[in-house]
Amino acid sequence: MRKISADYIFPGNANPIKNGVIVYDGNGVIEAVLNPTIDAINYNEVEVYEGIICPGFINTHCHLELSYLKGKISEGGQLHNFVKEIIDLRDQFTEEERLEAIVLGEKEMIDNGIVGVGDISNGDSTFEIKEKSSLNYHTFIEVFGSDPTIAEPAFKHAKGVYEAYFNKTSASITPHATYSVSDPLVVLINAHAIQNKSLITIHNQETASENVFFREGKGAMFELLGIAKKTNNSFIPTGKNALPSFLGKFNRVYKTLMVHNTFTEKEDILWAQKYSKTIYWCFCPNANEYIEKKQPNYSLFKNEKCTIGTDSLASNWSLSILDELKTIAKNDASISLATLLKWATFNGAQFLGFEKMGAIEKGKQPGLNLIEHVNLEDLTLQSSSRIRKLI
Ligand SMILES: [Zn+2]
Repeated sequence: MRKISADYIFPGNANPIKNGVIVYDGNGVIEAVLNPTIDAINYNEVEVYEGIICPGFINTHCHLELSYLKGKISEGGQLHNFVKEIIDLRDQFTEEERLEAIVLGEKEMIDNGIVGVGDISNGDSTFEIKEKSSLNYHTFIEVFGSDPTIAEPAFKHAKGVYEAYFNKTSASITPHATYSVSDPLVVLINAHAIQNKSLITIHNQETASENVFFREGKGAMFELLGIAKKTNNSFIPTGKNALPSFLGKFNRVYKTLMVHNTFTEKEDILWAQKYSKTIYWCFCPNANEYIEKKQPNYSLFKNEKCTIGTDSLASNWSLSILDELKTIAKNDASISLATLLKWATFNGAQFLGFEKMGAIEKGKQPGLNLIEHVNLEDLTLQSSSRIRKLI
């Protein structure tokens, strides 16, 4: 039996407990969480740490297979240039280099206290590593194609990758982004998702030109993808932002994660609330800093089910949820540490269906992170705050 305490326990789904104690049974399952204002505690038999303890982090948005692009893409180039650069670079690396980078990327996540990951895959390069991994994965097989005539082969390819995955209950076929999936492809993805009750994830409103794409049928992304030509000039602008224009094409959605949301407006959130009760949101603050140098309006999302992602090493300096939280805290001091940690743990575990994770409570095995160098006076993160993985 192990008993662990720190200055504060942040359970992930409840208020912080000052000097709380987490009691583990012999099998590494939490047996009890004690609160000194209610429970009698003998601290002589407790491991006591300085700092705060929270559950292991859930990274709801990563592309582990792109780890080989670390440091290769220019910063601040906006999304359309990022896409261009990836296309130019992607064939210049050997399979060995890619695999090596995947192994290192995963190790970085583990060292940074991440225990569960929602990972985007276009191919099968990460599958063997995931099968043996100590991390919990849900893999999103991503499909894209803005040319309506290639919908069937594109979907067939994704289906093949999906079939190659070792555990279908933790995989789903998912659309890439609002701007890169044609109407016939939406129909195919939607049918598969309904049949399999799939989790869906969509890159959403990461760049301003995504809204212009749907509102006016023009802009940098519209031009880059040659939409006018691909659709024989039949694209009809909706006059609405990207989120309602795209998600509205799905006639039923199970749990759906909107990723980035940098240019998401209040009306979009209101629309999403009406559309489905199972919409989750994922922020990747450092990827936004890397590509667009712009942050989402976090305050709009205070009452929403938010989660945190690192995105890939193609557009980030690290795979660290704590680094992401620091960036949010720097940009919006009104989001409390308890809220940030709920986003980084409980909400992500709920979205991905990792039932044993995301909360420090009886019966769970959430992993345990100690965050050191937290300002304990006002419970805020500092730039020197760092992770020590306890379990
Ligand atoms: Zn992404």
